[in-house]
Amino acid sequence: MPNILLIYTGGTIGMVMDFETGALKNFNFDELQTYIPELNLLDCSISTLSFEDPIDSSNMNPEYWVKLAGIIEENYNSFDGFVVLHGSDTMSYTSSALSFMMENLSKPIIFTGSQLPIGDLRTDAKENLITSIQLAATQEKGQPLITEVCLYFEYKLYRANRTTKINAQHFEAFASLNYPPLAESGVELAINHEALWKSDRRKQLNVFKNMGRGVILMKMFPGMDEDSFAHIIAYPKLKGLVLETYGSGNVTTQSWFLDGIAHVIERGVPVINVTQCSGGSVNMGVYETSFGLKKLGVISGKDITTEAALAKLMFLLGHGISLKSFRTIFETSLRGEMQ
Ligand code: ASP
Repeated sequence: MPNILLIYTGGTIGMVMDFETGALKNFNFDELQTYIPELNLLDCSISTLSFEDPIDSSNMNPEYWVKLAGIIEENYNSFDGFVVLHGSDTMSYTSSALSFMMENLSKPIIFTGSQLPIGDLRTDAKENLITSIQLAATQEKGQPLITEVCLYFEYKLYRANRTTKINAQHFEAFASLNYPPLAESGVELAINHEALWKSDRRKQLNVFKNMGRGVILMKMFPGMDEDSFAHIIAYPKLKGLVLETYGSGNVTTQSWFLDGIAHVIERGVPVINVTQCSGGSVNMGVYETSFGLKKLGVISGKDITTEAALAKLMFLLGHGISLKSFRTIFETSLRGEMQ
């Protein structure tokens, strides 16, 4: 029987209503089977582990990513798969980061959560949790079928670094507009074998924990003014800039903006162009409004999500890669995060 480790980091999924106060509070995770007795019916053995102080995922940060990666690393040889329970708000960020940090992964790490607490009558937590465990336990010829970091929510399994939270109310809270689901849960669990990441099982897991800092995300909007822009890019500890641009990678052609970006690049700081559209790709040079960026040496994020771009930027900055090789490596898919 496959061994699955369930790690609770926090978030709505692990909460129950305090009937006296009406407020949501974390429940004792060791009592999980009491809330979901169906877990006993699964064809796998489940162990649980919880952050001592579970957090709302809005408080997530790279230190917690390292902590989570460390927990998985310590337990890697004893388990066949991992399910991480995490608040949905920043789940795409954490799971994207883990996808880069866990190099040569050959076991599944499936993130899930819920919109309603596990103790709620209409909760989506049970299906999300049970199917995530089933997927993590799925094997082929005695080996885990899934060998990448995934996110499961509302009947769909996605490649984690392709996802974005798109809805704060609907059970269908995530989308992966540039990559198809890896599996869909209906009457049967339909696996999209073609879409799965093929890992080299002979390689040793390597957990990278030195994520770079000093990263800024800047979203373009009509009305951005010269002074605030100059103020932001003057940040002396700036190490990497993600520009969320219009459409296929377009920005204003005003000279203060392009000159400012040129200065950032002259300082040796990589600038990444990602689109603020939920789907589609950056293609610099198609319009005059992106040609300037291309000429300056701005790196194309292609069809990467903003969440994955930030994670990849921190990951590569942590490796101390020179600006020269930075572009080639950033523009190469490392974990299936871009085309
Ligand atoms: N604010 C919560 C969190 O992200 C929402 C959720 O759990 O889905 O931790």
